[in-house]
Amino acid sequence: MSWFADLLGPFRGFAVTMRQVGKPRLTIKYPAQKRVKPERFHGRHVLNRYPDGMEKCIGCELCAGVCPANCIYVRGADNPPEEPVSPGERFGFVYEINMLRCIFCAMCVEACPTQAITMTHLFEMSVTERADGIYTKDELLVEPDGTPNHPQPPSELIDLDELTAGDGWMRATSPAGHAAYEGVVAWTPSARTGDLPAERGQMSDPQLDAGVSEEKEADDG
Ligand code: SF4
Ligand code: SF4
Repeated sequence: MSWFADLLGPFRGFAVTMRQVGKPRLTIKYPAQKRVKPERFHGRHVLNRYPDGMEKCIGCELCAGVCPANCIYVRGADNPPEEPVSPGERFGFVYEINMLRCIFCAMCVEACPTQAITMTHLFEMSVTERADGIYTKDELLVEPDGTPNHPQPPSELIDLDELTAGDGWMRATSPAGHAAYEGVVAWTPSARTGDLPAERGQMSDPQLDAGVSEEKEADDG
């Protein structure tokens, strides 16, 4: 029988191949084609400003403290009384993220009390020099009108519009991540999203609250 099995072997192999013929392709022609990313996609960070142009970062270093990869370096400084940079007492004087170490977990985003740091949809960030992987405040901070900065020029790979997409999970969910708040903005307006309603927090929308209560009752069930 072994000679017969050997004879059939190649045909079994071809059968595997033939079963795939006609099935929809899973691969795409990247980068000419790109997949639509999930709303909560974790891409490159940005440092945001308020609609009046003030920086949201208050230099509290919570993001650096919570970062499991230890890749954020922040130093705060007192705001000059005559020309404050942020609405707080202090602002982020130095802000750096070592993207080579970042694991894109978004814990910095969750820890930030002012929603100064958020993540976007851009992930094409490869560099050939190690130093270029360390993003400085100049590269992370958006312009006063909300336009993001990026160290590399736009190209087939780098679609800078992705830096304005998403605003991280803040646009996708509630601060506590409750599914009933998916798509509800719980977000302090920033320079590029100044038309968004002011942050409502949770449990302030009667319809959603009703949905949350029903879900909770079902869970407790
Ligand atoms: S996404 Fe995670 S690993 Fe990256 S800087 Fe933020 S906390 Fe650190
Ligand atoms: S980004 Fe947020 S958490 Fe980090 S230092 Fe600035 S205000 Fe604090």
